[in-house]
Amino acid sequence: MTAQQPLRGDVAVLVPAAGLGSRLGPGTPKALREIAGAPLLVHAVRRVCRADGVACVVVAAPAGRAQEVRALVEPEVPPDVTLLVVDGGPTRGESVYAALSAAPAEYPVVLVHDAARAFAPPDLVERVAAAVRSGHDAVIPVLAVVDTVKEVDADGRVVRTLDRTALRAVQTPQGFRREVLLAAHRAAGVANGVTDDAGLVEHLGVAVFCVPGAEAALKITRPSDLALAHLHLDADGGRTLSS
Ligand code: C5P
Repeated sequence: MTAQQPLRGDVAVLVPAAGLGSRLGPGTPKALREIAGAPLLVHAVRRVCRADGVACVVVAAPAGRAQEVRALVEPEVPPDVTLLVVDGGPTRGESVYAALSAAPAEYPVVLVHDAARAFAPPDLVERVAAAVRSGHDAVIPVLAVVDTVKEVDADGRVVRTLDRTALRAVQTPQGFRREVLLAAHRAAGVANGVTDDAGLVEHLGVAVFCVPGAEAALKITRPSDLALAHLHLDADGGRTLSS
């Protein structure tokens, strides 16, 4: 590295972006749908790359669209950040594992960040990475739960009411020491149905640490979420630079 290049860090970010996103309606895979003039994936990668620690981004693209995805994302990635694009798999877990397998081993901190959380601010990315760097094996960003949450059986009867004060809604990016994430995926096998990577780590008996999440990191799942995402963009002039 020459003296002119800005110092880049120790973090590889895996971006699973291969989902169809059918809850958003039929058509283009979710990560490639446009909002405010750019695909969700482009918004996500743009913000991730503004976090100083990030040195490598690995995108898991929808099947057969890796080349197209690379062309979309490349202009968002600074020259000192390594960009890799791999084919995603039929499940989120397989997409994450494909990206993890491609990520160079030189980055000790690995973040997993859903393209669907396109407006997660760079300081959230840095907060999660910093917590891993400070010694936590696994880190998740969380928000307090505002609704009362009940466990319900298959017949629609309430089994119990959960204590809301002890509940948290979990976002991405989730951060891990690289070896811990690898061990968790290998132990779970590719066919695992777990929807977040911290869940796999919990199965290993490894402690997962929480840091404050960000409202702007909402997961865009249903059409109304697109409207909400616009609100966050409008509120900060389209930058979503801080939580
Ligand atoms: O479907 P859901 O919103 O839970 O997906 C979360 C993230 O995982 C999305 O960014 C989606 O593109 C990604 N995903 C993937 N490969 C799959 C399914 C989902 O990369 N097969």
